[in-house]
Amino acid sequence: MSQVAQRRASPRVWVDGVAIGGDAPVVVQSMTNTDTADITGTTKQVYELAQAGSELVRITVNTSEAAAAVPHIRRRLDALGCKVPLIGDFHYNGHRLLTEYPECAQALAKYRINPGNVGKNRKGEDQFAMMIGVAIQYGKPVRIGVNWGSLDQDVVVRMMDENSRLAQPKDVRELTREALIVSALESAKRAEELGLPHDRIVLSCKVSEVQDLIAVYQELAGRCDYALHLGLTEAGMGSKGIVASTAALAVLLQQGIGDTIRVSLTPAPGGARTEEVVVAQEILQTMGLRAFAPMVTACPGCGRTTSTVFQELAQDIQGYLRAQMPVWREQYSGVEEMTVAVMGCIVNGPGESKMANIGISLPGTGETPSAPVYVDGEKTVTLRGEHIAAEFQRIVDDYVVRKYRAKAPD
Ligand code: SF4
Repeated sequence: MSQVAQRRASPRVWVDGVAIGGDAPVVVQSMTNTDTADITGTTKQVYELAQAGSELVRITVNTSEAAAAVPHIRRRLDALGCKVPLIGDFHYNGHRLLTEYPECAQALAKYRINPGNVGKNRKGEDQFAMMIGVAIQYGKPVRIGVNWGSLDQDVVVRMMDENSRLAQPKDVRELTREALIVSALESAKRAEELGLPHDRIVLSCKVSEVQDLIAVYQELAGRCDYALHLGLTEAGMGSKGIVASTAALAVLLQQGIGDTIRVSLTPAPGGARTEEVVVAQEILQTMGLRAFAPMVTACPGCGRTTSTVFQELAQDIQGYLRAQMPVWREQYSGVEEMTVAVMGCIVNGPGESKMANIGISLPGTGETPSAPVYVDGEKTVTLRGEHIAAEFQRIVDDYVVRKYRAKAPD
């Protein structure tokens, strides 16, 4: 029987109380898309991402105004009781912002440095060293985050020269994959030479194609023991972004590769940024790696379900369970492992409902207008009438209170 491989061994990296790597669970992270200089807007979005379950949140730190805003955002989050660690994303001017804004350097829990965007040649080395120096000074971990779209050109040119002298040169794609890995490993080595401890380094090599991502991480995982951040960069919008991210991440996670993940979805205009958190959680939960929120099993519906009652109930219940989680998570242990089935007719309805913690089998077309409810495999009640959804929701609430142990207050 196929099963998830044991996680690849890596040192545990602490990010303000959140562990990445070692035997810690795979961590979900996300990134804001607000202007970080907008303190109110960014605080709000970080808070929403954290409420949705993001365990680390990355924010862009690209200007003096953004750097100056970071400590205010941290304070406002603390005042809201939101402890989620903030990660600063730096490109081009990170050396300047981190040294000129010490409160920003202090307020951030981790720095993301892209070796392709720190500057060229000697200047780039000095600027990289400045950022690592700040990380050492404040005891912060660093993610060395290499990206296919902004690969360190010094590394690329050097490797192309070397490649051209080979009897059998690698093709461009293979060479680029190798350059990503070399850039990450050489930068990590340099950071350690500068004094950053081994267990304060996380690596990522992000690309936008599924097969490239899998190949790069399989190779990277075999060549170092650093904790790894996984993510398909520029995954895209809607179902394409979700499917591509899931396809890539699932293969690697199944092989025990990956200590923290981000799903880089492009939100639809007006769409919720929190969708990327939900997708990341669902990847981990459907693979059986972690549990975040009760899962709803729903049948796809067919010619036996000609009304929308069943779809609406499945959607309402799923939305309700997610909405309750920020409160339930604080109050009840184990509630995230609850399973709920919402089924469309008698064919598979009772069977699936019995296997879930709570299940409801709605009447299909032509069936008696009644909906038996099963709790822990036993039929407990049959709902009828117009208020089935509200009554079922109440049954779920009662079950949570009865079944899951109340947590002691902090
Ligand atoms: S449970 Fe019933 S309604 Fe749902 S897919 Fe199966 S046959 Fe169709």
